[in-house]
Amino acid sequence: MIAVLKHGSTKADEKKVIKLIEAEGFTAHPDTGAETTIVGVVGAAPDKKINLKEKLQVMSVVEKVVVISDPYKLTSWNFKQDKTVIDLGDGVKVGGDELTIMAGPCSVENKEQILETARIVKAAGAKILRGGAFKPRTSPYSFQGLGEEGLMLLAEARAETGLKVITELMDIAHIDVVCKYADIIQIGARNMQNYALLKEIGKLDKPVMLKRGMAATIKEWLLAAEYVMNEGNHNVILCERGVRTFGEETRNTMDLSSIPLVQQLSHLPVIADPSHGTGRWELVIPVARAAAAVGADGIMVEVHPHPKNALSDGPQSLKPANFRLLMDELDAITTSLKTFKVREKKIAYK
Ligand code: PEP
Ligand code: MN
Repeated sequence: MIAVLKHGSTKADEKKVIKLIEAEGFTAHPDTGAETTIVGVVGAAPDKKINLKEKLQVMSVVEKVVVISDPYKLTSWNFKQDKTVIDLGDGVKVGGDELTIMAGPCSVENKEQILETARIVKAAGAKILRGGAFKPRTSPYSFQGLGEEGLMLLAEARAETGLKVITELMDIAHIDVVCKYADIIQIGARNMQNYALLKEIGKLDKPVMLKRGMAATIKEWLLAAEYVMNEGNHNVILCERGVRTFGEETRNTMDLSSIPLVQQLSHLPVIADPSHGTGRWELVIPVARAAAAVGADGIMVEVHPHPKNALSDGPQSLKPANFRLLMDELDAITTSLKTFKVREKKIAYK
């Protein structure tokens, strides 16, 4: 449920409300908007809920109490009035007015490869460098990533180019080392429902990008985000990366409809990953264009200076020249989208 405070309520009023909520054994999540303050209530004590509702309702500072029956709480628009914007510093934001581009190789392979790619994607306008150092590979005999050495190379690329860094975390045991180097932690599709990992990430003060599981429903995906947010970390980004269907011609089926759907349900930013979504470089540009057009908050693409030699995901990696082409096309699309303010707010089409 949420308690909507009266117009003009003060911080002290908010504190009183929070105190009551906590005294009843629930967790309070205040959200101050331009007009009103709302205090979201979550907790697994359903028998105590009616009692709390009555106590809140009679408080003079409370305008009304609304019971939310949706399974989504902290991720939903009911609990937050403005869109979530993740501020990574140096003017780099996810969820803001700009389409944020994350680009780089699937895996960090060596110093030359990551530095060359970082320079290329930076020059073309990307703001965030991607690259896996801990890789979830289908086969145990495939390249597993460079581990901490890969993270150090990402940090070197950041120091040279100013790009922010996103990299995957697969294991609770690697939290400290990944946090030391990453600006955003990526939780991959295979770990979307690794609840122990999600809870640990939730205790961190570090942005996290949660990729949709390859067979996950929207509900499961948003509830996975709830796991992170419920522990206190509200800096969550979602990433649509395609789901498994019966088709054999593409690696996954890019579910473009999930992007506006999730944006209508949730205030969290949504990134599109057409590289894993299609598995084929020649489909990445058209699907990225489409993702921008449906209002994605950003695009993540795999770029490799020499895709044929890539140690992972070469077939879906863009060559530098094609990445530059994509960036020009995305520019044209986002310029025309600005007229409609597609990503700015919860859009209610009537
Ligand atoms: C990746 O981004 O390289 C990756 C492994 O993605 P996913 O978890 O979506 O398969
Ligand atoms: Mn990959």
